[in-house]
Order: sequence, then structure tokens, then C-alpha cells
Amino acid sequence: MAARLDCPLCGVTVAEGEAIAPGICPGCGAAYAGGGDDPPRGTAMAMEHWGVTGLEPRTVADGLFRMPPEDPLNLRVVPISDRRDGFYRWWLFVARDESPQEVLTLATEHAAAR
Ligand SMILES: [Zn+2]
Repeated sequence: MAARLDCPLCGVTVAEGEAIAPGICPGCGAAYAGGGDDPPRGTAMAMEHWGVTGLEPRTVADGLFRMPPEDPLNLRVVPISDRRDGFYRWWLFVARDESPQEVLTLATEHAAAR
């Protein structure tokens, strides 16, 4: 069963198929990476891909999911699952020209335990 990943920032389908690789959204230029079976694992894979260091993936993922909806950081980094049969994989999208290191560091400020 093929998977499909849509960009949460602009709605364009960025990838479709068995294996989705990290890349750049053709619609808005956002960078996406991840692919883990749960949000912390997807966050860890995205951090490794982007070379983000000094942060705990579980804390970053927790912070991302606790961001208040009105926080402008929601327009700079978004966690999302792809769609496939019976399970999901988790990805992070970072808006064009944003630094993954910076936005993921900011996200940890919302985590329950730091
Ligand atoms: Zn996009």
C-alpha cells in the first residue's frame, strides 16, 4: 500500500509511494524529514537528517504537540503523519528559509518536562 505525504503548510502532496525520502516541498519550499513510527522517532530522524544537535528528540516532539494554536511557531515548524494503510509515519516540516536548529529549540520551550 502506497503512502502519501501532504505539506501541512501549503497542502501540496510532496511524496507518494512505498518509500518516502526527506526533501523539499515543491509548493512552498519547506524542508521535510523524518519517517519514524511515532513522533519522537520521526523527530529524531529529522534532527539527524538536518544535523540538529543538543536537543532531546522526545522533548522536541512533546513541545511540538503542546504548542498553543495561536503560537506563530506553528507556521515555522509542523509535525504531521503521512497516510498509509493501518499505520502512520511521522514527519517534520520546517518552513522555507527557517533554521531547523532554531525552530526545534524554540519548540522545546513548550515541552512539559525539559
Ligand atoms: Zn508546502
